[in-house]
Amino acid sequence: MSELAAVDPGLAPADGEVPPDDWRRLLARALAGVPAGAPAPAVWRALGEAGVLRGLYRDGNALGPVVDPARLGDLLRTVDARGDNGATLSVLVQAASALPILGSGRSRTAAAAPSPVTAAQERVLTGSAQVALAATDEAAPGSDLSGLGTELRFEDGGLVVHGGKRWVTNARGAEFLLVLARRRPGRHFTDFSWVLVPAAAPGVTVRPAATGLLANAATGHVTLDSVRLPADHLVGANGRGLAVFARHMSTERLAGAQWAVALTGRVLADTRERLLGRTVDGQPLWHNPVVRRDFAECLVRVAQLRALCEDLAGTAAKGQNLSAGALLKSAVGLTADAVLARCAQLQGADGFAAGGAQTVRAEAAVLGIGGGVTELMLDSVADQSEQLLAEWRT
Ligand SMILES: Cc1cc2nc3c(=O)[nH]c(=O)nc-3n(C[C@H](O)[C@H](O)[C@H](O)COP(=O)(O)OP(=O)(O)OC[C@H]3O[C@@H](n4cnc5c(N)ncnc54)[C@H](O)[C@@H]3O)c2cc1C
Repeated sequence: MSELAAVDPGLAPADGEVPPDDWRRLLARALAGVPAGAPAPAVWRALGEAGVLRGLYRDGNALGPVVDPARLGDLLRTVDARGDNGATLSVLVQAASALPILGSGRSRTAAAAPSPVTAAQERVLTGSAQVALAATDEAAPGSDLSGLGTELRFEDGGLVVHGGKRWVTNARGAEFLLVLARRRPGRHFTDFSWVLVPAAAPGVTVRPAATGLLANAATGHVTLDSVRLPADHLVGANGRGLAVFARHMSTERLAGAQWAVALTGRVLADTRERLLGRTVDGQPLWHNPVVRRDFAECLVRVAQLRALCEDLAGTAAKGQNLSAGALLKSAVGLTADAVLARCAQLQGADGFAAGGAQTVRAEAAVLGIGGGVTELMLDSVADQSEQLLAEWRT
C-alpha cells in the first residue's frame, strides 16, 4: 500500500479528493529521510515509493494523463526547499513532461504481458527507474524543433533510431530515454514520433554535458547509432509526436512557473534575512529606502507570476490551448532572472560563495532556456494576441 493510501485508505492514490494538507504531509514525509544533496535518483525513488508520483495524475484523454496542478505545485515547492536546483530540474522534467508523454503511449487493452512502454511507465512511477526526455537535437537549434535530424526508420518489422540529442536532463542516470524522432522528411506536424529507447540498448552512448551548473540533473548528450528496437517501443500513435508534445509542454511550462515562484520566494526570504542582519552605520540595510523599494519591486513581480500560475494552472495542465503555456513561460523569463539578479546583488560578495545567490541565478537561467527560450515564447504570445485580447473583452 502506498503512503497516500495510508493517509486515507479509502482513496486510491490517483483520487483527486485527498485533502491538500494530507498531500503536503505525504510529500514532507516522503523526502524527510533523503539526505541533503543526495543524488537525484534517490529523491525520485523516495517520491515513487511513497506513492507521490502515481498520485500526481488524473485520468487523461487520448493524448495522455493530466497532472493535478495543485499537487504538482506542492511537489515542486517541497523539492525546491531542499535547495538543490539540479535535483528539482530532474524531478520537474520527469513529472511534468516525460511521464505524461510516456503515459500517452500506455496500452489500454488488457494484454497477457504489459507492453515495454507500459512496463517502463510503471517502473518510473514507482521511482525504481528514471526517464529522460530527449527532444533537443544535434542537427538543429533547440528553437527549431521541427528541423530535428534524429531519424526513425521501420525495418524488418522493428524500429531503427539514428541521430543525436543534446543537453538532456537525467541522461546520465536514466534507464529509459524518450526520444523524439522524425519518421519522414519534412516539417509537417505529423512527421514526428516518440520512441522508448532503453539507455542500455546497443548503439546508445551518453557523455556528460560539460557544465558545473545543476550538477544533480545529470545532464548529458546522447548518441543514437542505428539503435534497433522491437516495434512495440513506439510511444503512442506513429506521427502523433508533436501533438502529444505540444499538449504536455503546457504542463512543463506550468511546472517551470511553479518552480520559479518557489525558487524566487526562497531566495527573497534568504535575502531579506541577510539585509535585516547586515548593518551599515548602525542601521540594518533593510531600512535603506533604495533597498526596500527594489525588494518590494521583486515581491510584486513574483506575486504577479504567482497569480498568473493560479489563473492558468487548470488550462495549462489540460493542454487545451497553447497560449496558457506560452504566457506562463514568458512571464517566468521576464521575472525570474530580474528578481534573482537583484537578490544576488543585494547579497554583495557573499552571493559569490559556493552555491550562493550568484550560482542560483546562473542555474535558474535554465527557466528561460530549457523547453523553449523566452524569445520564442514571446513570439508565440504575439501570435496569439488577437485571440487573447478578444478573450479579455468578454
Ligand atoms: C540545463 C539544461 C537542461 C536541458 N534539459 C533538456 C531536456 O531534458 N530535454 C531536451 O530535449 N532538451 C533539454 N535542454 C535543451 C533546451 O530545451 C534547449 O537548450 C532550448 O530549447 C534552446 O535550444 P538551443 O540551446 O539550441 O538554443 P538556440 O535555439 O540555438 O537559441 C540560442 C538563443 O538564440 C535566441 N533565439 C532563439 N530563437 C529565437 C527566436 N525565435 N527569436 C529571438 N531569439 C531567439 C535566444 O536568445 C536563444 O537563447 C536543456 C537545456 C539546458 C541548458
